[in-house]
Amino acid sequence: MSRAKGVEVALRAGAHLGEGPVWDADRRVLLWVDILAGIVHRFDPASGRDVSIHVGQPVGAAVPRVSGGLALALRDGFALMDVNGAYDLVANVELDLASNRMNDGKCDAAGRYWAGTMDEAHSRPGAGSLYRLDLDTTVTRVLDGVTISNGLDWSPDGATMYYIDTPTQGIDAYDFDAEIGEIANSRRIIDIDPADGAPDGMTVDAEGYLWVALWGGWGLRRYAPTGALDRFVAMPVSRVTSCAFGGADLGDLYVTSAQRALSKDELAAQPLAGSLFRLRPGVSGLLPHPFGA
Ligand code: CA
Repeated sequence: MSRAKGVEVALRAGAHLGEGPVWDADRRVLLWVDILAGIVHRFDPASGRDVSIHVGQPVGAAVPRVSGGLALALRDGFALMDVNGAYDLVANVELDLASNRMNDGKCDAAGRYWAGTMDEAHSRPGAGSLYRLDLDTTVTRVLDGVTISNGLDWSPDGATMYYIDTPTQGIDAYDFDAEIGEIANSRRIIDIDPADGAPDGMTVDAEGYLWVALWGGWGLRRYAPTGALDRFVAMPVSRVTSCAFGGADLGDLYVTSAQRALSKDELAAQPLAGSLFRLRPGVSGLLPHPFGA
């Protein structure tokens, strides 16, 4: 398959499960993870260099901290890493559920870290939850009965949170109380036909539209906050996992992908699987929020 117009390979990473891109504006690098390999990547677009940080267990997401270093959603829970790469697990999550691990995560405007879980071994329905790590490292279960907790983000005014539990094949919106970090009034705003792929990671742009990565769907969809489909961007790989805006003007859309569960023949047909891609869709993103401690 030829490369989609305007989509370039930023890094031919060959990632098994590339995920969780987030722009670190202070350092002008893109953080992303290879979940089951337990690697946090730091990609510098200026040099094209990518540095791997091995964290010793699956890592569902990584975000910058205001104090430097990273906040991590690890298999075993939330961890805070210092600038030298040493980390402490500050909040255990589901240690009693041996096959569960943390998955996608993101910080709200107040710097709280939201990330959820899933049953890695069996994808047991309803076995996961969504959690919130407050700045004092208190952890709160916000939703339970989730199967594959995945992409989340907020509207530009911070009043709405969007959330994906992948097997539900859609996106839910919640009223978001930014003061106390609580969600309410769940409603389904977008449904996706399984034939078009499964919703995975997501980011909201400066116009308040949602960009949704489609696992098995060979691309990204952009939706209006009303739920109306606005655009499809084709990618040269089937396992499109997540996306995030970066670059000095936040106009570069970075897209992660995976080789996971591809047969030998499929891999041969999509040799760029696992790469980090970049495009300029003509709209910019919002400045991502770091963990606030
Ligand atoms: Ca994901």
